[in-house]
Amino acid sequence: MKRALAFAAAAALAGVLVWKLWPQRAPQSPVPQAPTADAEVPTRGAERREVVPSAPAANVRRATAQAPPSSPWAELNNEAVAALERGELERAVELFEQCHAGASDERVFARNLAEALARLAVRDHELERPCKRCVELLERAVQLAPERSDLAQLLERWRKELATESEFHRVQSTHFELAYEVWREGLVDQSADLLAALELHYVELARIFDVRPGERARIPVSLYRPAEFANITGLAEWAGASYDGVIRAPVAEERALGATFDELLRHELIHAFVREAGGRDVPGWLNEGLAQWLQRAPAEDLRRARSALRGQPWIELSSLRGSLTSLPDTATVTRAYAQSLAFCAYLDEQHGRGVLLALVAGCKRGESVDATFQSWTRLRLAEAEALFRAGL
Ligand SMILES: [Zn+2]
Repeated sequence: MKRALAFAAAAALAGVLVWKLWPQRAPQSPVPQAPTADAEVPTRGAERREVVPSAPAANVRRATAQAPPSSPWAELNNEAVAALERGELERAVELFEQCHAGASDERVFARNLAEALARLAVRDHELERPCKRCVELLERAVQLAPERSDLAQLLERWRKELATESEFHRVQSTHFELAYEVWREGLVDQSADLLAALELHYVELARIFDVRPGERARIPVSLYRPAEFANITGLAEWAGASYDGVIRAPVAEERALGATFDELLRHELIHAFVREAGGRDVPGWLNEGLAQWLQRAPAEDLRRARSALRGQPWIELSSLRGSLTSLPDTATVTRAYAQSLAFCAYLDEQHGRGVLLALVAGCKRGESVDATFQSWTRLRLAEAEALFRAGL
């Protein structure tokens, strides 16, 4: 029987990009959003496969820019930075606007204003869909800081999204907003079932993670024609789904929206919970490990992952902090996913799920997973990693 298979791919670690704002410490930017791609790949037999998406990778770069200490706008700039760090984005934009207007040839002010505008756009893009105003804010940010390729890439994605989704039909449930175009037969009838299934997953995952994403604004779920999906995410048309703050999935005419599709949406929803519980800096191995381990019935995948790992070169966890799909080739990405699942399962079995969840929560507080792990287990994470490898 040919079975479409859910599979997991990349971590939604947003690229972090920082301008050091003179003379203060640079705040971290939540701006760029690399899609977490979760590919559902039709394969022969029941083998799971992974693909490396062609989506623009998260541009994680940290740039610094110094304003001249003698600048008469330095104090206002500092005030704006403080506002930015407190999350008072409108206020930060207002103050940076004044700095930029006062010294329009000073690059640092233009870049700082771009940063604030981009943060504002990203925040509102998660609250309001479709958000034409967010695209306009980001357009201005790109004009102010044309060297920021991460912002330009995000803008390109948002423009495509706006063009594609402007006529979409939108239906809501308690925690989700499902957007789609009424082209595929049966989609209207199935939308209520999809939302009901998502709400069931939500209740279970909210209990596990003890957070409730989708309360401030509903979690967006967009269903596309395969070509639209590829256009917006940069992923292959046959990829299963992605998460970049929006759960996105292609729904080809021949694709069944049954149990496998439901499992894939659950996987993406887990990424949304991980982001809510742990912020945007949860390591890739932990994010993807949890998304696979918390699927409905992980036993078969776990068995397959463990057997695939035996005798294979090991990728150090320390090099799996970012998006797994940024790894160099498909085989490495596949192994990274298998490792992530198997190691998370091991940590759960050896130390309890509470420790796994504590690692996520620690990320939100800015603590390293190593430090959190050690505080809970008196073991270094590298020691647990070595023990796990020895037991494979
Ligand atoms: Zn995933």
